[in-house]
Amino acid sequence: MRIAIISDIHANFQALSAVLQDITSQLVDRIVCLGDIVGYGADPAACVDLVRDRAAFSVLGNHDAAVLSPHQRSYFNPTALEAVRWTADQIGSAQADWLRQLPYRVSFENMLFVHSAPRAPEEWDYVFSGMEARMQGRHFFERLCFIGHSHIPGVYSLESDLREYTPDHRYLINVGSVGQPRDGDPRSSYGLIDTVAGTYENRRISYDVDAAMRAILDRGLPPRLAHRLKSGA
Ligand code: ZN
Repeated sequence: MRIAIISDIHANFQALSAVLQDITSQLVDRIVCLGDIVGYGADPAACVDLVRDRAAFSVLGNHDAAVLSPHQRSYFNPTALEAVRWTADQIGSAQADWLRQLPYRVSFENMLFVHSAPRAPEEWDYVFSGMEARMQGRHFFERLCFIGHSHIPGVYSLESDLREYTPDHRYLINVGSVGQPRDGDPRSSYGLIDTVAGTYENRRISYDVDAAMRAILDRGLPPRLAHRLKSGA
């Protein structure tokens, strides 16, 4: 089975469209979304509609939760907070209802899918190192766990310091961010796992960054949210 795993779209319609176009060319069986569909970007409603139509399933991200509930915004910085408040006004009740029913975790075919980390997905832990990944590895039983949240793609073996994917080890894999990459590469990031071929690929896709930046500025959102798309940081 070939599964495309997308995460952290953050209402970037230009990036999501380019990634979905690439996914179509990759002949996948399913698309899975790891959450943070909204927040930061200019087109939250269109992105929710597109993910709802195209993904087999999706899990809840911290920005999705924050749009639905002011109680989930306490740790947000002023820029993120402004974007979340704006987003809450943009999405309709049908879109909010769909976001509200998203689970924190989905287990499927010996793979776990969560937004942040498997230990307690609702606490929004970050995983940045092999050591943190191995600690998280004690909190799931599936062979693979796919995460997003940090916007930094990475493959972490739970058994060694190996950073290469092999089909016979356990891994925690961060698929990176579709709509706001933060690893210094402004191209969109997503993951492609082939369970028959035994391969995993982190794909990077160019998209119209200037159009996404213009849309953010046109909506009156904080300019920093536009400029960081250009640097990918
Ligand atoms: Zn995010």
